[in-house]
Amino acid sequence: MTTTVPFVSTGAAFGGKKLSPKVSARIRERLIASGHSFLANDNIADFIEPGELPELQDEVADKFRELLRSLVIDIDNDHNTHETAERVAKMYLQEVFKGRYHQQPKVASFPNVKKLDEIYTVGPITVRSACSHHFVPIMGNCWIGIKPGSRVIGLSKFTRVADWVFSRPHIQEEAVMILADEIEKLCEPQGLGIIVKAQHYCMKWRGVKEPQTSMINSVVRGDFRHDPSLKQEFFELIRQQESLLSS
Ligand SMILES: [Zn+2]
Repeated sequence: MTTTVPFVSTGAAFGGKKLSPKVSARIRERLIASGHSFLANDNIADFIEPGELPELQDEVADKFRELLRSLVIDIDNDHNTHETAERVAKMYLQEVFKGRYHQQPKVASFPNVKKLDEIYTVGPITVRSACSHHFVPIMGNCWIGIKPGSRVIGLSKFTRVADWVFSRPHIQEEAVMILADEIEKLCEPQGLGIIVKAQHYCMKWRGVKEPQTSMINSVVRGDFRHDPSLKQEFFELIRQQESLLSS
């Protein structure tokens, strides 16, 4: 009788080197070898080989099962938590942290042939994240303002990119910067402004337990940064969008 040993692709950098048995360790080795950071809000999709994501999900489920055991929960007899580990692993890798493990959604950009240069804003865009410090939700809204540059993208694409960027463990200040970087890469605007207003469950659910507190932060780049009247126009448009919502 012969046994089949599953073939694991090693990538050129690891030819001949003994592989770590754990998929998370293999991915980490590739990241370290390439000098790519793997902070909580980094995307690491390029370092996950085909077929490894389900394996990673199984590994996370195993660890989460151990966490439940460490919390002295009888997962073998408790019908409610029996498959919680599998559910949480799937939720992390496929939903709430998908922006770490999956490639950016395809966004087509087009040349700005009409040379549009009037500013416009999009929002509110719902953003959902989790704080890196406590792994509890951050829920809020985002507004994006653009003074078009050499390329344009469809309005719905801002929502897709924001969802991808925010679906990682974050702190709000960095999330806004990372989103700005991605939008700049996609459409090279002359001016870009982003505002995020969000509630942090690490302040609502635990800690100081302030249910109404929210955090607002913004980033302005290019012409929005250098031209105070343009920056003011951006904030005014967003104020109008917000008042339209509440009227
Ligand atoms: Zn927190």
